[in-house]
Amino acid sequence: MRMIKFTIAKELSINPSKSDFNKSLLWLRLAIACCLLLFAQVAICSPISKVDTSLYQIKKHIEILCSPDFYGRSPLTGDDKKAAIYIDSIFTAQKLKPYKTVPTTSYKQPFSIVCTTPKSSIITFLGKTYNFGADFITLGTEQVTFNEISVVFGGTGTPEELDIIDLKGKALLILTNNLRVGALNIQDIAKSKDCALVILVNPTKTQQFEQISRQVNVLQFETTYTIANSKKSVLTRSFSPLADPVPQILISNQLAGAILGENPHTVWHRINRGEETRVLPPSLKLGLQFERQIDTINTQNVIGWIPSSNNSHRSIVVCAHFDHLAPQGQDWYPGADDNASGTTLLIELAKRFAAKTKQGVEFKNNIVFAAFSAEEIGLLGSEHYSKNPLFPIDSTIIVLNFDMVGRVGKQDGIEKTLFISGANRIERFSEIALHVNADTSLYIDYKSMADIASYLLSDHYYFELKGIPAYLLTTGLHQEYHTPFDTPDRISYKGINDIINYAQRLIIHLDSNTNQWLKD
Ligand SMILES: [Zn+2]
Repeated sequence: MRMIKFTIAKELSINPSKSDFNKSLLWLRLAIACCLLLFAQVAICSPISKVDTSLYQIKKHIEILCSPDFYGRSPLTGDDKKAAIYIDSIFTAQKLKPYKTVPTTSYKQPFSIVCTTPKSSIITFLGKTYNFGADFITLGTEQVTFNEISVVFGGTGTPEELDIIDLKGKALLILTNNLRVGALNIQDIAKSKDCALVILVNPTKTQQFEQISRQVNVLQFETTYTIANSKKSVLTRSFSPLADPVPQILISNQLAGAILGENPHTVWHRINRGEETRVLPPSLKLGLQFERQIDTINTQNVIGWIPSSNNSHRSIVVCAHFDHLAPQGQDWYPGADDNASGTTLLIELAKRFAAKTKQGVEFKNNIVFAAFSAEEIGLLGSEHYSKNPLFPIDSTIIVLNFDMVGRVGKQDGIEKTLFISGANRIERFSEIALHVNADTSLYIDYKSMADIASYLLSDHYYFELKGIPAYLLTTGLHQEYHTPFDTPDRISYKGINDIINYAQRLIIHLDSNTNQWLKD
């Protein structure tokens, strides 16, 4: 509707002198615009007859996946299960090869998610309580607890200052005028001396603590999600490249003043003038408590595959996430484009390749159809698969990730733009993508998203990190993205069907030209 309103306004800006002719011209244009739009609306929302099976099937998948019964398909509410059963039933009907056969046959690749919700965190010092956010924040992923830990003062944290101090099992307080450098530099010494906690303060920029704590405050109390038993810790601000850094906290100048018994700014200047360094009484201890709620939820990827005809260990991975957002308050999120559209494409592609196999068509590679869960809460399903693949990850010749393919739009007046983005070998892949597109009405755009590729996190990410050619294929973002208005009535079923046809050709081309693709 918006499109039209915009057109009229523009037209009305024509000057009054050539009144009659212009007026009739205006109405003519308006009439044409309305007809065109009506036709388009009719095209998108017109009833799809059962005769046109593929459009009918596409519409059916979208409507079922976006139905209130599926309620956004989020693993946080358990609604992912309904979607998983739905996809599983289709893979079963199509007799795709299952993800596993022992001890029982299943298309499901289950995994658990740890939900960490920090509750409260306090420091107790000399009988007073200091609160997280107001007086201190954590710098990094580690949330440690000390009932009572001795505090030692390390000046500005230079090797000369620290060499003479016993840090074993203690909390080290240092002053730094550059947080990032200070936090990084201190790590090696602290680690080598078995320091248990690093306490940083920047006496030269008193506002800095407030600035950072405002940002972290928002993050810190958010629930974060990681795959169970994965080494990866909760994603917050990390100041240390080390795999297992000494925990670090940043404190306010007020709390530093309480520990030092003097204004840290004065101490800083005295140290820089080369005057004596303050030694804290050995009895000085503080307590640090982190309370957090840990919940575990179980979810699953749904994976089916078509075997190669030559027992190859190579695979082409075609994927799409089927989960979407959990309800918030009164709102729930159908996620028609994000990503019922991609899930639908995946299901229909799997059906077509299963049909080809039944017709005796052979493939040089295994073709894996992976419906990933938990994408919206951290790409967890694809992370889990990339660590537990069906075929050796290094033999994955390509990953095609379809995320939001339901909103074919106009770009620069060109119909049906399919954006492609990815870091590894994008130039070579785009040649193939354009070549395969030779006779379709799709417009393949592998350039526009290049600048924002690193922000477009989706399920190709963890494969990309492993150096595998992994690409996002999407019709792009829109204003209904991650809103309750991402609904089926805005989906172009014909557009999805065109992209399915295109994807089928792309996979067949890559499969029959594997050596060429791998050689280049
Ligand atoms: Zn998505």
